[in-house]
Amino acid sequence: MSAVDEKDEITMESLAERHGVAVVVVDENSIEIASANNNSICSHLYDSPDFGAACAEYCGKAFAMATAAGDAVDYECHAGLVCRAVPVVQGGKQMVAIVGRTFLRSENYRRATEKAAAGDWRRFPQNELFDNVLLSASPIPIEQLGREIGAVSKPLTAEPLAAEPPGRLGRKAKTKPAEIDPPLIAAEQTPSQTPDPFETSLLNYRLPEQEQEASVERPMIGGDQTLADREAWRAFIPTLLKVSYRLACRRILEFLARQYGIESALWLQRDGQQFEMAAVLGDLEDKPVRIDIPVDDKRIRAAVRDDSPIVLREVQSAANKKARVIQLFPVVIGGEVRNALGIARDEIGPELSGRILNFCRYVASRLEILRLRDAVEQQARIGRILKDFNDQLRDIDSDNFWQELTAIMARLVEAERASLLVVGPTEELTAKAAVGTPVDISTMPDLGSRVARTILEKGKPALVADVNKASLASVDAERLYKSPSFISYPIVFGGAGIGVLNFTDKHGGERFDKHDLEVLDSVAPQIAVALDRISLRDKVGEFAQLSVTDPLTGLLNRRYLKERLAEEINRSDRSGEPLSFLMMDVDDFKSYNDRFGHPAGDDALRMVGSILRQNLRGADVAVRYGGEEFSVMLPATSIDEAETIAQRIRTHIERTDFPRRRVTLSVGVAALTPELSSVDGLVSAADKALLRAKEMGRNNVQVYDRLMDGEDNVH
Ligand code: GH3
Ligand code: MG
Ligand code: MG
Repeated sequence: MSAVDEKDEITMESLAERHGVAVVVVDENSIEIASANNNSICSHLYDSPDFGAACAEYCGKAFAMATAAGDAVDYECHAGLVCRAVPVVQGGKQMVAIVGRTFLRSENYRRATEKAAAGDWRRFPQNELFDNVLLSASPIPIEQLGREIGAVSKPLTAEPLAAEPPGRLGRKAKTKPAEIDPPLIAAEQTPSQTPDPFETSLLNYRLPEQEQEASVERPMIGGDQTLADREAWRAFIPTLLKVSYRLACRRILEFLARQYGIESALWLQRDGQQFEMAAVLGDLEDKPVRIDIPVDDKRIRAAVRDDSPIVLREVQSAANKKARVIQLFPVVIGGEVRNALGIARDEIGPELSGRILNFCRYVASRLEILRLRDAVEQQARIGRILKDFNDQLRDIDSDNFWQELTAIMARLVEAERASLLVVGPTEELTAKAAVGTPVDISTMPDLGSRVARTILEKGKPALVADVNKASLASVDAERLYKSPSFISYPIVFGGAGIGVLNFTDKHGGERFDKHDLEVLDSVAPQIAVALDRISLRDKVGEFAQLSVTDPLTGLLNRRYLKERLAEEINRSDRSGEPLSFLMMDVDDFKSYNDRFGHPAGDDALRMVGSILRQNLRGADVAVRYGGEEFSVMLPATSIDEAETIAQRIRTHIERTDFPRRRVTLSVGVAALTPELSSVDGLVSAADKALLRAKEMGRNNVQVYDRLMDGEDNVH
């Protein structure tokens, strides 16, 4: 419903939608009377107890500011959104319309995504927060809508019309909005000098293309044509917002093909200072090209300024007689080149290029919303999967650990098929797990000899967009793959390749890209440690024959500990990871035995062993050191984490109902340091800390440090 004037043809919704910005009308108490196309970020922040106060400092003061000024007032709020407060009159009452609530600077909306993904705004449901984020390519829509809203509101007094053009954002509009007649919509004139299009300051930021957008008709295009174009675009945009960012990029090219007969084109997105391929259609798809031009290239700046494409010519070679030509159109959003459209044509007329360029600008800011939404969703998804991954690491002893780990990794990169190959004792690659494969890889001869072996040797992942085009000999199994794209990812620990993860059949037939590699990079160190640990765990089988387990508690014994500790110290030296060690002793256990007998004492020790096991993670090693003494080796654990674990164990024991009486434990904690880097050194440091715990009255945890060492020497 229009709050401005119901009888008018022009409703607030239609105005807001047309300009892609929000309109919120507030009364003198800053109460929202009506709103259209509101920014979803605003509706979340405004209502939240933590951010509402900050909003009150901006939009909450809009009424006071605009009515005091008697004029439009511009501001950028705490969330980085640009707004214009316009005095309007409705039903004979003074109100203020807040127009805009849109991101104008790419820096601001990037900050918003970061807050949503990992910062203060994480508390909001991300889909809802990003449901209707508004981005504008320039301040012009805000200015125009500000004027139009002013124009359709009924003036309090019928004063003569002022014909002066309104001011730009950043300073107050000279014309009183209430005095403008509706026909004045979009009557803005192009200023004489063209400012630098890369200037992002709000005050003087203006792009040449937006000057043109400000006038309804571009001189080079007939009015009917522009109208027909706009109709088609308007019908197209909603279909875009329903699909993923990636698919939307492709849809843009398909639209260009339908609407303008562009058969072969590519859509690029900015990645740092480079462009990367977002979608490709037609011949370019079959024979891909690489666009090497940097985003800040002089030619790009010139093309933006002149509204003309850059003509890129393929390097000619003996094998490549007919060099292709690509017309590249840079697209600016928020003062930054965010995208570029490449069209494979030798030349392109000014009329068509004008229409296409306008379309790109129209579509690009909508696309940016999708990209942000996808980026936030992706963050959330990876967060969930990483949690699964970490939970899984806890179950490192489970039989299907590798299978589940491989399944999680497959989900991480959305691969329908994945396999894990591990380097065996004689350097051969053995399949540990496979997901979604119809081929039994364990029966394949000379497994992984082709790709995986090379990857392992080089220690660098391979990302192949299309296996048919890669310079790798084909094998039979590959023919069963649904998609031609795959990733082969090496797992490297302490400088040596210890396994390879292979992924293929990306969900939805898409290709893997470097974002998938980034995801893998983020979990690779954890996989490496897990993989290394588990191969050690497998060795426990061998150790078992040397009787390294303690028959009473089922824990490992001191002999095993000494072997493992030496190994872990070496490993820690190589990987630079911390290593901690706990030494524990049951308090006053002699009296437990004396009072309740030896068998009861044994039961209690068994219970202590079981509690230890419950409190440790997969990679930790719990040992019965001897008598009523236990120790735990904690790889990849800092001294602070070790102290936390020690406290957890101590409290668990203290709170456990032992059959005869309360049992408590004293714990000494030590960690590997350059000064403390031998097995005996580490054990004796933990022992000293334990002794201190006993001195401190038992049932407590003490951490060894040099100070303690010094004190011991004094005593
Ligand atoms: P503190 O708090 O100083 O550790 O006192 P404590 O009584 O625990 O110390 P102490 O080392 O003097 O006594 C340890 C006792 O633990 C001796 C022994 O009776 C008991 N113990 C050691 N090994 C076993 C075992 O395998 N089974 C049983 N039931 N008792 C054991
Ligand atoms: Mg003892
Ligand atoms: Mg004791």
